[in-house]
Amino acid sequence: MDQLLNKIIEENRYLTELGKVADYIPALSKANANDIGLCFIDKEDNIHKSGCHNSKFTIQSISKVLTLILAIMDNGIDKVLDKVGLEGTDEPFNSFVKLDLPNIKKPANPLINSGAIVVTSLIKGDDFIRFQRIIDLAKFITNNNEIGFNEDVYNSEKATGSRNRAMAYLMSNKGIIDGDVEGILDTYFKQCSIEMDVVDLARIGKFISGGCKGLQVPTINNNELTILLKGILLACGMYDSSSRYAIEVGIPTKSGVSGGLMGVVPANRGIGIYSPSLDTHGNSMAGLGIIKALSRKLNLSIFNC
Ligand code: GLU
Repeated sequence: MDQLLNKIIEENRYLTELGKVADYIPALSKANANDIGLCFIDKEDNIHKSGCHNSKFTIQSISKVLTLILAIMDNGIDKVLDKVGLEGTDEPFNSFVKLDLPNIKKPANPLINSGAIVVTSLIKGDDFIRFQRIIDLAKFITNNNEIGFNEDVYNSEKATGSRNRAMAYLMSNKGIIDGDVEGILDTYFKQCSIEMDVVDLARIGKFISGGCKGLQVPTINNNELTILLKGILLACGMYDSSSRYAIEVGIPTKSGVSGGLMGVVPANRGIGIYSPSLDTHGNSMAGLGIIKALSRKLNLSIFNC
């Protein structure tokens, strides 16, 4: 297995040259475009790693999965879905062109920025407690108490986050989010700056694949929560290329603009990938090539006959 992972990395390394590291959050532009890290955790919990698997990176949009779990725990699914939809979108992750239309009552889904900011606003607690709960959930799921956040990336995003700020204030104006907008944004910028490595990401994937066991969710049973998460990830997890990805790869996955991919592999397995050079949708170029190759070689697609 380890040999296979090394081979797949090398076969896809050229892709790092074809993409671009995100620079709209200035601190992210410091990443090394050629880095590739990969982890696959199988059902027996064997951890297979390759490339720069020790490198830490901020999880960015992958944090939206953690906050969605917390918002559902706190409010139940119906209340969350009053405020955010479940539909995929062909718009970029940071678009809010439609949000100001009179007939639009909520963001399309929880994994685009506008939807994720709403979800963060639904987590109970003051700003400090909210973020503490997000970090605690990350520690619980990854079984890694060392998880923290990157202050540089947080400050950089907070200083340059006008687009997220604009959509949050628009949603406050429309009554989609309640409460202190700056506090909600602060939590959102912090959650995006949580740092992990690919092993942590693969653990999140395995955790969801295995049915979110051990999580105390008062408002929904763990099986329903798992079905919901897998469905949303498949439909919306790869920004505006989620449908093509579902067909070509068939693994419910969330990506982030730092170059992370967290894959929920059927049968209690997980994948974590890091490679910061991105395609035009904001997905890791080499990461896509690698997960597609893994899916084909190991028959990982949920659509396999
Ligand atoms: N922090 C990023 C933003 O708000 C997250 C986007 C992403 O990873 O897709 O723009």
